[in-house]
Parts: sequence; C-alpha cells; structure tokens
Amino acid sequence: MFSRGTMKKVFSGKKFRLGPVHQRRSIIEAESPGSEDFLHSGRDEEMLSLSEAMVEQAVGYMAVPLGLAGPLLIDGRQYMIPLATEEPSVIAACSFAGGLTARHGGISTSASDPVMAAQIFIEDKGGLGSAGIEIIQAAQESIKDKLMPMLLSMENRGGGWRGMETDWMESERIFFVTLKIDVRDAMGANLLNSAAERVRPLLEQLTGGQVLMAILSNRCENRIARAAFSLPVKSLLRPGSGGRETAERIVKAARIARKNSDRAVTHNKGIMNGISALALAACNDTRAIEAAAHAYACRDGQCRGLSEYWLEGNVLHGSLEMPLPFAVTGGAVDFHPTSRWALALLDNPDARGLSRIAAAVGLMQNLAALRALVCEGIQEGHLSLHARRLSFSAGARGEDIGAYTQVIRREAIRSRSAAMNRFKRWKKEHAPL
Ligand code: NAD
Repeated sequence: MFSRGTMKKVFSGKKFRLGPVHQRRSIIEAESPGSEDFLHSGRDEEMLSLSEAMVEQAVGYMAVPLGLAGPLLIDGRQYMIPLATEEPSVIAACSFAGGLTARHGGISTSASDPVMAAQIFIEDKGGLGSAGIEIIQAAQESIKDKLMPMLLSMENRGGGWRGMETDWMESERIFFVTLKIDVRDAMGANLLNSAAERVRPLLEQLTGGQVLMAILSNRCENRIARAAFSLPVKSLLRPGSGGRETAERIVKAARIARKNSDRAVTHNKGIMNGISALALAACNDTRAIEAAAHAYACRDGQCRGLSEYWLEGNVLHGSLEMPLPFAVTGGAVDFHPTSRWALALLDNPDARGLSRIAAAVGLMQNLAALRALVCEGIQEGHLSLHARRLSFSAGARGEDIGAYTQVIRREAIRSRSAAMNRFKRWKKEHAPL
C-alpha cells in the first residue's frame, strides 16, 4: 500500500509520529490511495479524540460488531451479555446454551479474591546461593512495611498485602520473590509493577545481589472464577438423536479435550470466544485474560480442556474453572463509552462479579460448541453465517441482507463474484414496480 520511500520519509518522520490525529489521517489520504473506505468509516470526532488519548500514533478507530447474547440466567439473575467480536456464531451459540440452561435453573458461579502476583528476580552477586531464600523471607515484615504506603488505599478497599514467597533458580543463580496483592476491582498491572519496583533496593541490600527485572506475572492462578450448570438429558433431545446419547457424546468430547492437547487448544479457544468478546466489550486487557487462561490449561505440563462434563443418572453436569482477571476500573475501562455502557448493562458488577459472568459466558460457549460438534457438526451453523457475510459483500444492505442470504443458501452460492452477479439480477427481480 505504501512505497518504501513513503515508509521512510513520511511514517518515520516527527510530523507523523507527533502530530495530531487529523494530520496523520491527511498524510494517509495523500500517500495511500485506496484508504477512502477506512477514512470514511472512522470520522467520529469523539472517537478520534478517544483513540488519541488511548494509543500512540493513532490514525482512527476500528468498529468491531457489538452484540448482546442472552438472556443468561446467572446465580438467579437474568443478564444480556455485551460481546464485541468479529466472529460469527459466537453470540448465537452463547444465547442458545444460555436459553437451554435458563430453563433448568441457570448457571451458578463463584470467584476467589482478586489476588495478583509480581515477581522480582535478583542475581546472586554475594554468593549466598539458596541460603538467600531464608534471608529474604525473614525480612518479610520490612518488605511489607516498605509497600504499605502505596497499598494503603487498596487496604482501605479491603484488598492489599496478601503475603510473599521466595524461591531460588539454581541454573541462573537467581532468587525470585513473588509478591501477592489483592487488587479489588482493578486488573492491578500498574500497582503490582510499582510494588515490585519499590522493593528493588531493599532486596538488593538484603542479598548483596542485583535486581535483573521486576514485573507482574499474568499467570493469575490466585484469581479464579468458576461456573457450573445441570441439565436433564431430555433437554438435549433432537430429531434423530436421544437426549441421553447427546449428553454422553458431550461428556466424551470434553474428556478427550482433557486428554489430547491438540483438541484441548481448540476446545479452550472456543471458551475464549465468549470471554475475550466480553473482555473487549468491557475494554479489559484481552491478552492478559487469554494468557492466564492458556497458562492455567497447561498447569500440569500438558494443555487440557478447561471445562468438565459428567453424567449423574439422567442429569448432565458441566463446570468451568479458570483464572479470569477482569477489572471494572482502571486502564481503559473507566473512560471508554462502550465499556461504561457494557458494565451498566451488567448492573455495574465488581471485578469478581464480572469474572463470574465471564465464567458463565465461557461455559455456555463451550456447551453450545460441544453440542454442535457431537451432533450436526459446527460447519452447518457457520455456513449460514458465511452466507450472511457473502450477502453483505455482494451489496445487500438492511432487510435485503436476510432475504438475499436465503437465495445464497438455496442456490449454494459460494464465491463473492458469483454472489455479486446474482445479487444484481436479484435486485432487478425485486425492484419496486
Ligand atoms: P490503573 O493503573 O488505572 O489502576 C487502577 C486505579 O484504579 C488505581 O489508581 C486505583 O487506585 C483505582 N481504583 C479506584 N477504585 C478502585 C477499586 N475499587 N479497586 C481497585 N482499584 C481502584 O490500572 P491497573 O489495573 O493497574 O492496570 C491495568 C492496565 O495496565 C491495563 O490497561 C493493562 O493493559 C495495562 N498493563 C498490563 C500489563 C500486563 O498485563 N503485563 C503490564 C502493564 C500494563
């Protein structure tokens, strides 16, 4: 799209990097024929200012579809769940499974306290070896005292200091200290990073070593949420397949995902389809949530499915347990209008509440995917959504999208060019007299 000369001369120049967003957009307009669609679609002044406030070298913003899944019955309350996603079928799947479980008591959830961890790695320059562990642990109270001024407001909210652990990595001759802090409604990245930085000098003084790095860990194994449901097998009855048979096939499919890591990765990706979409709608750090989820799935050395299913008599049970470091304040959460609206729609939960909703969404996504997989297969649903997109790219808009999608499905049109040609004829056939 851009010539090499343009890349060097224009985009690495100060004018581009440091100028206002409109200047960058003018440069794009001048240097990049073909950007009209992008420039035209992102012209909202408020959103342009927001983009500038949020990221560096902003040139616009990207509209991702936002839909509402549900209603989901979670802990006795009905929720419509805001999901921001580019993937078709995510919202339909979540709503389908939500409807199924809502007719049988819904989903029950729980969450641990939102405890995050930060690590400080100290090179052993004084030759203490593993004996340094005791020296550091013995200084736990001094380390805590050092942190208290910065933890005070978190302590006042009911969070704050939750202890520390020390370990020794022989191969690198490094001590590492793990600080644990309850961050209440925040994700906590900045607080954890600041805390780790704050104790650097004290740890160097105690050990005679040198700090290599100090940063939070995205593992979040102490920030766990759970969701569970129970369904009578007869609720899974479908033409050509008994409810019990479907339930047994779901249990088997989930068991395979616990044992086969290739399958587990995709199984968990499906769970994240809903969770990441909720995270994006609530302007949370999607990468942090995904990193924690995948690390948890691999915690015993093999990637395993995060959910479990089992049968008791004629009842199918499903459950999901995973770290869900969701925040309802801090980062971009507070000031992005979509995020504020999304949280209001969920009745402004606290961070634990939001992580419980996320666990329920993940489990519903998983139930719908497993049911489709062991019954009709997932392509069937995807094909109808593919037809909808084909209908749009052929030129259909508004009510025409649905009507022309039927034509695409009926006539098994697969390619964009065929869809466009047929659309022209279809429009003529349906032109008002
Ligand atoms: P933040 O820096 O905005 O801090 C949260 C703020 O909320 C604090 O100032 C806190 O005092 C305040 N607050 C008000 N009410 C609160 C309540 N009830 N509970 C808790 N805090 C409350 O945000 P953060 O959570 O420290 O960091 C999140 C951001 O950091 C995200 O944008 C994330 O992408 C980014 N980040 C992530 C990583 C990582 O994941 N490795 C690293 C660096 C930065």
